[in-house]
Amino acid sequence: MADKNYQMNDVVEMKKPHPCGENRWRIIRMGADIRIKCLGCDHSTLLPRRRFETKMKRVVERAET
Ligand SMILES: [Zn+2]
Repeated sequence: MADKNYQMNDVVEMKKPHPCGENRWRIIRMGADIRIKCLGCDHSTLLPRRRFETKMKRVVERAET
């Protein structure tokens, strides 16, 4: 499950694409809930952590640390 490790500012790919056609999201807030922002249309959405982990497919771009 190493590819499921994620952190703030990572870009992740979700299992289902956003209606705008983009499938990559940036993690912009982490807590009990995760806020991700669509890279295609800038729409952001808040997901409970467990739900996020279920829907997230993989990390496609690691944030600079
Ligand atoms: Zn979108």
